[in-house]
Amino acid sequence: MKYLLLVLGVVLTFRGYSQRCMVKETMPFFNEARKGVQTSSRDTLPGEVIIVPVVIHVLYNTNDQNIPDQHIIDQINSLNRDFRRKNADTVNTPAPFKSVAADSRIVFCIAKTDPDGKSTTGIIRKYTRVKAFFPDDQMKYSSKGGDDAWDASEYFNIWVCNLFGRTLGYSVMPGGNPALDGVVIQTNVFGNGPYLSAPFNKGRTLTHETGHWLGLKHLWGDSVCGSDGIDDTPPQEGSSTGCPDFPKTSSCSINPYGDMFMDFMDFTDDACMNMFSTGQVREMRSQFAKGGFRNSFLASTVCESSPVEEAPQVPPDGEVDLQMYPNPFATQLIIRGNNFDEVNGKAVRIYNVQGKLVQEITIQSQTTIVNTSQLPSGVYIAIFENANKRKIFKIVKAGYSGNR
Ligand SMILES: [Zn+2]
Repeated sequence: MKYLLLVLGVVLTFRGYSQRCMVKETMPFFNEARKGVQTSSRDTLPGEVIIVPVVIHVLYNTNDQNIPDQHIIDQINSLNRDFRRKNADTVNTPAPFKSVAADSRIVFCIAKTDPDGKSTTGIIRKYTRVKAFFPDDQMKYSSKGGDDAWDASEYFNIWVCNLFGRTLGYSVMPGGNPALDGVVIQTNVFGNGPYLSAPFNKGRTLTHETGHWLGLKHLWGDSVCGSDGIDDTPPQEGSSTGCPDFPKTSSCSINPYGDMFMDFMDFTDDACMNMFSTGQVREMRSQFAKGGFRNSFLASTVCESSPVEEAPQVPPDGEVDLQMYPNPFATQLIIRGNNFDEVNGKAVRIYNVQGKLVQEITIQSQTTIVNTSQLPSGVYIAIFENANKRKIFKIVKAGYSGNR
């Protein structure tokens, strides 16, 4: 299947010196991708609290970037308060906008079951050699120094990494390539607490990007006096920055209250945004309705605490000096461990894409030649593990091997 990714617009709006976000919008008629999405057989119920399992991919190059669990818990708690309108600063919503401020009845939980049905913390920590990622999705690929997405029909993928320059985060809109589906947040704005620096210290970058992930646009529709397609967010000329005084009006204001600059889909400081509108909530919930891009989440059970089986102790991914070639391979696969002590006596396990173990090799010399003639052509995952580290390879057996 060939994915057609149409990037409609990359928004490079500077606020102060930082970018709140860039949105990679995908066309809503993404039919090919939708066919692959398993849809739940039911619709949302009017008052239903929708539960969205989250997996957090923490990519670190320095120890400081390997943020503690508590920061992650603070951030998800903060996200939930914002989405349930339980944030303490709802009192700051100006009176004229209070009547349209709404509880989305969408909550996020850290996944307890991984894609293989094993118990998980829902937090993946991975060392990367990449000092700073560009907002070009490389952090979403293990092969490029990032970490592959978990099944985007069941998990909301959040990558936390050091982004180059002053980008705070970015998101994709619903309906795109599942391998890229999720949000990316700059490490030093992820969390909610005194360990972050103002003005991006209240976890609102994730709230904002999650709004995009659920189909929301910026209030000004990314053009001068443009539309976000939501009827209860007033038109505004452009983005807001800092912490404006109410009311803030512009040439396109239709009432004396002006801009809804305290909405999470503006670019105001974290301390100055505090609401989603009823129309925005309707839009976000529509993604989960029957036929919506996020409908499959209604059937997701990966946050329930009864996983199929306990996960074995898995060592973290790390740098192992091991190579596997050629790739694609045919009847032979060569495994080479340059540091023999690191690999001697250890196993490489090859799994098919269904997760079934198809071959196990014990390394007994620096170069091991593996006979792979019995494997059907296709994609395989090979995993090396020793006590401290593991390394994962995606390898392909070519369609034709041998005679022409
Ligand atoms: Zn944005």
